[in-house]
Amino acid sequence: MSASAVSPTFRVVSPSTGQLLAEVPDLGEAGVLEAVSRACSAAPAWAGLPFGERAAALRRWRTAALDSKELLPTLIGESGKPRHEAEGIELLYFCELIRFGISAGRRVLRPETRHPLLFMTKRTVLHRKPLGVVGVVGPWNFPLLNNAADAVFPLLAGNAVVLKPSEVTPLTSVVMGKLWLEVGNPPGVFQVVTGLGATGAALIEQVDGVMFTGSVQTGRKVAAKAGERLIPCVTELGGKSPFIVLEGADLDAAAMAAAWSGFAHSGQVCIGTERVYVEEKVAEEFERKLEERVRALRQEVPGLDGTGEHDLGAVTAPRQLEVVERQIADALRRGARAVTGGKRRTDLPGNFFEPTLLVGATQEMEVMREETFGPLLPVMRVKDAAEAVRLANDSHLGLNASVFGPEGRAVEVANAIQSGNTIVNDVLVHYLVVEAPLGGIKASGLGVRHGVEGLKQWTRLETVTTNKPFLGPVGRFISRRLAFPYDRRVLGLLRNATRLLYRRG
Ligand code: NAD
Repeated sequence: MSASAVSPTFRVVSPSTGQLLAEVPDLGEAGVLEAVSRACSAAPAWAGLPFGERAAALRRWRTAALDSKELLPTLIGESGKPRHEAEGIELLYFCELIRFGISAGRRVLRPETRHPLLFMTKRTVLHRKPLGVVGVVGPWNFPLLNNAADAVFPLLAGNAVVLKPSEVTPLTSVVMGKLWLEVGNPPGVFQVVTGLGATGAALIEQVDGVMFTGSVQTGRKVAAKAGERLIPCVTELGGKSPFIVLEGADLDAAAMAAAWSGFAHSGQVCIGTERVYVEEKVAEEFERKLEERVRALRQEVPGLDGTGEHDLGAVTAPRQLEVVERQIADALRRGARAVTGGKRRTDLPGNFFEPTLLVGATQEMEVMREETFGPLLPVMRVKDAAEAVRLANDSHLGLNASVFGPEGRAVEVANAIQSGNTIVNDVLVHYLVVEAPLGGIKASGLGVRHGVEGLKQWTRLETVTTNKPFLGPVGRFISRRLAFPYDRRVLGLLRNATRLLYRRG
């Protein structure tokens, strides 16, 4: 009997309408064991395919996602985000990641030869072999982009993947699992195991590598378990991304960008702006322009078919409403002022909160220190760029940052910010620059997604060292002199050679 037939279930509710979307099996440890066992059986054949055949399977999956009638309505339905973000960001990203992964994989996954200087008679071939079965554990804010899309690199590298999506938004992943099989891709190579946190924990116990995206709190537990098991683990965690506005910045562009990066997906974007620092001299004008932008945001129930013109949808996870309310109350008590929003939308069904802009924020407020992950953006005035950098760096998190200002000065400031990723005179779009590694520093995580670095980490490196053609006898002679029985004359030679080579630095 399959685990699903005996599993308890959990409810998936539309954040936009409050309606029940599905009862989904909480597959737990039994479901994980079944899936990982299937993955272990499928992995060797998948790893043994020529790279081009794995690439073709990923392309078929991509076409199926593009053609699917079910995927986007499911994604919009369970996340409450506008179609613009579901299709224009998540689906586009999935397609682009496959494009880059295939082109980079051809280059970086094949064996590579290194020629040593000291042991000139030798050469070493590096082989990048798949880890085996990779467990991907995903969050709710990007049901496609941080869930099935995170399987793309491990799959291209030759691993089988078991994905445990968030219990808040598991349905998109279930669709992606079906599409994988519908296009004739091998069963067992990509599977989805639905469940609560304990299912995720059970998965970490079984796999050979982990890609985790979620909160700092859970990320610590996952990394600790992976450390105990000595398996590779990438953690992409929370952020408190600063946005700095310098004197001389294009204030219209800065205001537009702050509004987008602060309120895209109702503020539930990991690299979205969480706090703004603006130089005093331009603060009044910037705040006025930003207020205009935020007031103009259109918020409504997202149409599953893409109907309706709107910028903001629902807050996906109801617990974020409480975080937003708590942080607003704390900020107002400490002297901030809400110039827009400030409360839940009771005129709409589901979880909607007015886009809220706070001015007069100060660094000790919770909204400036702890991740918000909701439609709330605080603005703080600073004396100069040095103060902005000091306050931006005064955080236990270091995921992302943006700087707006005259290019040269803005780049200087960007270089001084402690952040895994910083973008100058723009926001968010660098997530689509998949050629560059992207990841957090400090408590925002370990490892990266994207780039050749993000691809190589799903392989283990094994090397084979051999003698170069025709130099074998010389190599064997040298090795014999180094080995037992040790000889004073050889040591003398080694000593002289060491000094000759390295003494002068
Ligand atoms: P979460 O930590 O609550 O849950 C993430 C996933 O972990 C879920 O699938 C959950 O079921 C699972 N899980 C829970 N306990 C587990 C355990 N003990 N072992 C293994 N898995 C377990 O996070 P969330 O609330 O779903 O996601 C929001 C957070 O994700 C935010 O902090 C956001 O900043 C972060 N995030 C980061 C990035 C990034 O790239 N850095 C991207 C998206 C989201």
